[in-house]
Amino acid sequence: MNEKQKIPGEKIAQIEEYLPGQNTFEDNDVIRSTVIGDVHLDTIEKLASINRKKSITVPNVGDIIIGVVEANLPSMIAIMIKYVNGKKVVADLECVCVTRHIRKKNIALAKDVVKAEIISHINGTIHASIDSQELGVLFTKCRKCFGTVVKMRDAVKCKDCGWIDDRKLSLDFGKTEFFNQN
Ligand SMILES: [Zn+2]
Repeated sequence: MNEKQKIPGEKIAQIEEYLPGQNTFEDNDVIRSTVIGDVHLDTIEKLASINRKKSITVPNVGDIIIGVVEANLPSMIAIMIKYVNGKKVVADLECVCVTRHIRKKNIALAKDVVKAEIISHINGTIHASIDSQELGVLFTKCRKCFGTVVKMRDAVKCKDCGWIDDRKLSLDFGKTEFFNQN
């Protein structure tokens, strides 16, 4: 640990000298960090902030992650990792998942919640797979009207407009109600 690095709750500045910036909070007359990261004191703007450490919890090969699809490309999806082995992650961490071999038109849409397994780290990129039965989409919405969908065999049907669409569904699809708010 270098001396610039702060942990949540640690004092980073006095309120009379600085304003609380990103990833900080005001506690009486001191500014404290809400995350692990390096302190950045902007003497011009008088702003004390913390630059978040990018990868605090880098998942290992074999770990199961739950994340939100950030981008849905023709041959892969990019997932923002939210949980590793059931534990919430604090840092923004992305993994990519090659999907070109999966015979589905819409494997997962942007904003879908998916469960994936970490398969490798190559040149700083984390690669994941959603191939196994328990992996894939946990939560999705209708592509036409953003309505609630229900599982129909290996597809989903919109409860509002009736649109039927395919996804690479996880066996756990529909069991994670708490994600509906995200
Ligand atoms: Zn719909």
